[in-house]
Amino acid sequence: MRRFVDLHAHSTASDGTLPPADLIAAAERAGLAAIALTDHDTIDGLPAARQASAALAEMKFVPGIEVSAQPPSGTLHILGLAFDEKAPSILALAEFLRSGRRERNPRIVEKLQQLGLGIDMDDVLEAVVEAGGGSGVIGSGGAGSGTSGSAHLVVSRTHIALAMLDKGYVATTAEAFDRYIGKGQPAYADRPRKSAAETIAAIRDGGGIAVLAHPMQLNCANSAQLERIVHDLKDSGLDAIEAYHSQHSPEQTRAFMKMAKRFGLAVTGGSDFHGAPKPDVSIGRPRVPLAALEETFLTRLFARS
Ligand code: AMP
Ligand code: MN
Ligand code: MN
Ligand code: MN
Repeated sequence: MRRFVDLHAHSTASDGTLPPADLIAAAERAGLAAIALTDHDTIDGLPAARQASAALAEMKFVPGIEVSAQPPSGTLHILGLAFDEKAPSILALAEFLRSGRRERNPRIVEKLQQLGLGIDMDDVLEAVVEAGGGSGVIGSGGAGSGTSGSAHLVVSRTHIALAMLDKGYVATTAEAFDRYIGKGQPAYADRPRKSAAETIAAIRDGGGIAVLAHPMQLNCANSAQLERIVHDLKDSGLDAIEAYHSQHSPEQTRAFMKMAKRFGLAVTGGSDFHGAPKPDVSIGRPRVPLAALEETFLTRLFARS
């Protein structure tokens, strides 16, 4: 019996560098009991991932998505898990967020140009192609293919960071965020998001589970603020907290598990694997014990596996 799961990972359908089928193969090699594909703002990678996992008897596949919501503080990302992949509420939310990206990305590039960097949208699209953007994704023609699939392409700040790396303006993608395109930095530009309540409602209307992703990224000033935010999210229908995450220390994981218990929320966890853009993060790390997830929650989690 396999004992560990990873419920947060990205593929070439968004800003990861492994095609969905390769991600599934890597999860199988890691000996996981379950893997969720949670690309930003798209479900285009799910069919290929599901197909690749069909033959794997010991690993369950959980369909997922990661969406950004209006943050009360810092960054607010909500994972949707185990939803109906045809749900209009989820498809509409994803398209709304993708159209916000298409409008925002040129504004970031313009700011970089004003700072004197020789970079344009073609460089960014080249970085998308190099990262394998859209490759191995059923229904997507891939970056620059000119097919209708490219309308679904998720071009992320990660790709802008990769373009800056390619051109030698930064030594790592992290440096691109820290100096230029991270929140509060000179080339940052925001994009439209739905409120947390609207985001959670869309996921739940689609039959899914709503998870507060990497709560440390809320960047709360103190525990009272964090408690207030989680309280409000719970009121809006939040189901679970991602207590295990590659950015959490063991102490932080324990604290979020306690917090989940206090609020009557379930616990999840995942690596937030991206491949090359986050070279220190591996599939299946940290180890998230299946035994840490409640029995009733697992039933919902695996309802569409
Ligand atoms: P976007 O959703 O296009 O605004 O881009 C956000 C993405 O950038 C996230 O999904 C992360 O994968 C990545 N990201 C955010 N902050 C950093 C950072 N400091 N270093 C590396 N990647 C980051
Ligand atoms: Mn990402
Ligand atoms: Mn995130
Ligand atoms: Mn993520």
